[in-house]
Amino acid sequence: MPDDQKKTIIIDYNKCVSCGICASICPHKALEMVNGYPEVTGTCKVCGLCAGSCITNAISMFATKFKDESILAEIAKGNIIACRRKSKEGTTLLCISRLDMIHIAEAIAKHGSVAIMSCGSDCRNFPGAIEAESKVKAMMIALEKLGLEKERISINEPSKAFSTPTMEIARLLTAVAKDRNVRALVAKMRSIVEDGNVYREKVNLEKYEQILSNAIDTAIKVEKILKVVEDEAKISAIAEKTGMKKEEILSTVIEMRRRGLVEVEGEDELAVRVVR
Ligand code: SF4
Ligand code: SF4
Repeated sequence: MPDDQKKTIIIDYNKCVSCGICASICPHKALEMVNGYPEVTGTCKVCGLCAGSCITNAISMFATKFKDESILAEIAKGNIIACRRKSKEGTTLLCISRLDMIHIAEAIAKHGSVAIMSCGSDCRNFPGAIEAESKVKAMMIALEKLGLEKERISINEPSKAFSTPTMEIARLLTAVAKDRNVRALVAKMRSIVEDGNVYREKVNLEKYEQILSNAIDTAIKVEKILKVVEDEAKISAIAEKTGMKKEEILSTVIEMRRRGLVEVEGEDELAVRVVR
């Protein structure tokens, strides 16, 4: 498979899990699933939506300045992230489509708040701006679950001043931003709410947000458990260290086992072992 996708994007096929989301959301139908993996087969406009939405961060931009490392380094200098058509201030992206929830988490970790400058309905890579709003929405839900104000993120308004969160809260926010299930739900928001499933059964926005909220909850719990289980730990020890109830630890551990993150063993009391 090509690792140089016509000098526009680079796909790390070792990270790709063949979910097909990138191909389905590309605004220019430039990506196609070929033998189960995405390839640039059309005209890529380098909007970055696929890179900012890939559930495993398998896609990066070909140009160094639009890679996550460069964007995160820019974000460290200030808390504005903007489409370059909208603003020349702060971290300018070729299109707000390129926005990744990880960028939002990093801005809040470094500055306490972030201002997103978007072209909104004038987006040249429609629905890039709508996808950016979905990412903002998810991160606002995560902020509230972590006891922080959702007003730490503003769109097309100056940012509000907040103190930086603790390292622990910042770590949990980043974990939500990287969580595959959360990323998949965010990327599929329009198709879930507007198009429905294969039977054309639609999920209303309220129900969608509940599903997203549950996924964010799980992402936070997974990260809390992973932090305290260095190698192996009993459920009671996890409960003591995290303050979580045993029932919620058990249900989270079942999900973690499904994802291949941990193994579970024991009869009288279950022990959780992290899969390395
Ligand atoms: S979104 Fe990411 S993981 Fe899914 S098919 Fe595209 S490159 Fe692969
Ligand atoms: S960068 Fe934009 S146009 Fe190019 S493949 Fe990704 S989503 Fe499609």
